[in-house]
Amino acid sequence: MTLHRKCELVVIGGGPAGMAAAIAAREAGIEDILILEREEALGGILRQCIHNGFGLHRFGEELTGPEYAYRYEKEVKRLGIPYCLETTVVGLSPDRTVTAMNKKDGIFTVEAGAVVLAMGCRERPKGALNIAGRRPSGIYTAGTAQKFVNMKGYMPGREVVILGSGDIGLIMARRMTLEGAKVHAVCELMPYSGGLARNIEQCLNDFNIPLKLSHTVTEIHGKERLEGVTVCQVDGRLQPIAETAEYIPCDTLLLSCGLIPENELTKEAGIALDRVTGGAVVDGGRETEIPGVFACGNVLHVHDLVDYVSEEAVIAGRSAAEFIRGERRKECDIGISVDGRVRYTVPEKITEYKDTSVYFRVSEVFRDKKVVVRSGESVLLSKKANKLAPGEMETVKLTEKMLRECDGKISVSIEE
Ligand SMILES: Cc1cc2nc3c(=O)[nH]c(=O)nc-3n(C[C@H](O)[C@H](O)[C@H](O)COP(=O)(O)OP(=O)(O)OC[C@H]3O[C@@H](n4cnc5c(N)ncnc54)[C@H](O)[C@@H]3O)c2cc1C
Repeated sequence: MTLHRKCELVVIGGGPAGMAAAIAAREAGIEDILILEREEALGGILRQCIHNGFGLHRFGEELTGPEYAYRYEKEVKRLGIPYCLETTVVGLSPDRTVTAMNKKDGIFTVEAGAVVLAMGCRERPKGALNIAGRRPSGIYTAGTAQKFVNMKGYMPGREVVILGSGDIGLIMARRMTLEGAKVHAVCELMPYSGGLARNIEQCLNDFNIPLKLSHTVTEIHGKERLEGVTVCQVDGRLQPIAETAEYIPCDTLLLSCGLIPENELTKEAGIALDRVTGGAVVDGGRETEIPGVFACGNVLHVHDLVDYVSEEAVIAGRSAAEFIRGERRKECDIGISVDGRVRYTVPEKITEYKDTSVYFRVSEVFRDKKVVVRSGESVLLSKKANKLAPGEMETVKLTEKMLRECDGKISVSIEE
């Protein structure tokens, strides 16, 4: 028999986003909350991120991933917020019925007053990259290798090449080096890194690991076990230049080629997704297009720092509490558009007249430009930007006054 119960707020995912949203909702007076988490512990991806660098903005301290997550876990426990571990949500319907399963209860459903989506994201696998060659062992996503090294105590290999310079790849270049491996190169297809500047400094430059920009892996060598890779420079159209081919012997290839928000449940519920972020389209309160369903953290858009994940989750948790109490106001419908230089914004629209931070990422590296927010012909905000890079999330703060003055549309652009 399928168990069925009701709950005011269901939070899907017990990572930093889910925990912060649940805490914010409880602090806003919601008693009946349930966090559903598929892993055996709360904490999400931070459990395997044993390096420091977390929490500088939120706590003014440098914490490791597990330390950062533990602060929230302790609070969840102190507030007595119920959570189910080893419980996977397998369905979400537009009327906010959540279907989940675990060993103890089998399949069960929860009719939720509101739902917060906080499922995080997953790494882009090799299959999606179209590299020629066989499928020898020794090829991992950087996050899988991180789990092996940091949580299971296994070393994936000794001679390493990393494809992709996202933050996980950079962190793993340092981690593998500290564990005694030789990292021959980090190859990046684009002419700039996808990671944070501080990670390039601390994870590559400090260890003399070469970063090969505008380079990619074109061939994988080896039958049973990886024996080497062919690396090529790419031209302006990102096509490999055959004459630059270089063979690098290695037994391990780590892939750090992007993260994909985990939105299968979101799609199933019929929630509209943003083509660029891969996450739900949301308003300033992080409410999706289905009333009462909110989203935050990496499931919404890939964040560079967990501090911003927590900040966003507080917004989602508070908005969910307002929705449950029947106090959520929709006062306006202001769409936010971008030029090509700004790839996306979160939120994509604003429905309340209140101070709102708009997060965005740019499409390439820009120096000495201005971030300009307009409504029609009038400039609402213009701020100088010395450097903007795709790896770093940017923000503009819109005041209630600006929103009241705008004509129903806002654009964010990068200008000279
Ligand atoms: C390798 C790596 C290094 C990083 N380094 C830094 C750093 O140095 N500094 C920094 O600030 N940030 C760093 N980050 C980013 C930071 O870890 C993330 O921004 C943050 O963990 C995202 O939180 P989240 O809760 O959105 O997602 P996650 O932490 O991924 O949590 C999502 C949770 O949802 C659960 N879940 C998913 N689907 C379901 C389902 N169907 N049912 C039930 N549960 C489900 C998952 O099991 C998971 O626990 C790093 C991230 C990675 C991957």
